[in-house]
Amino acid sequence: MAEPTALPSAPNLQSPSLERLGLATDRPLVIVDVDEVLGLFMRGFGAWIAERGYELRFERFALFQNIYRPGAAENVDLAEGRELFNDFFATGCGELEPAPGAVEALRRLKPKAEILILSNAPASAEQLRGDWLKKHGLPPALILSSGPKGPITAALTAQTSGKTAFVDDLLSNLDSVAEHCPATATFQHVADLRLRPLAPRSERHLRIDDWADLGEAIEAAIS
Ligand SMILES: [Mg+2]
Repeated sequence: MAEPTALPSAPNLQSPSLERLGLATDRPLVIVDVDEVLGLFMRGFGAWIAERGYELRFERFALFQNIYRPGAAENVDLAEGRELFNDFFATGCGELEPAPGAVEALRRLKPKAEILILSNAPASAEQLRGDWLKKHGLPPALILSSGPKGPITAALTAQTSGKTAFVDDLLSNLDSVAEHCPATATFQHVADLRLRPLAPRSERHLRIDDWADLGEAIEAAIS
């Protein structure tokens, strides 16, 4: 009988290990987004682009379509918007203000669950984003990802025996998680006051914009 061939271990970016992130696999797991959930992205990004001669208008629940040259009727084109976005993540994202109540809510959840920060941001943001979590006393386990968050969340939640919850501002990520991990409780949170009336909601996910209430709802879902 042939021996199974030992394959060299290779890092699998689609399924990072909870243990390698320092997270226990026998406790509840709460996965939390950064931009517009833990951090006031639009406010921080708006201030950062203003220093570079642009302005952010709150006209729709979108990013690049809200970036303008002052006085212009047309928003900047996609390439220009993307360049600003990438520069911000490489150099400016450490200055975000935490969303009101977020730090305290996660501090209260910490004894009850493992907390993992899952942020769709360019890899160049890793150092600044990690330092930002540390600076504000937020949980340090961080994954930077891209694309709909369902597949990576499924790979992560499959590693734990505890109950799981997921928080994001974007319905595309929430729907993706609901499809790939139906047992995971999903919550929508939109931190920015100006974005709240623009952000679409869905009956599939509880929408809770107050972090104190959200923390309690998460705790109830994972208990
Ligand atoms: Mg977000």
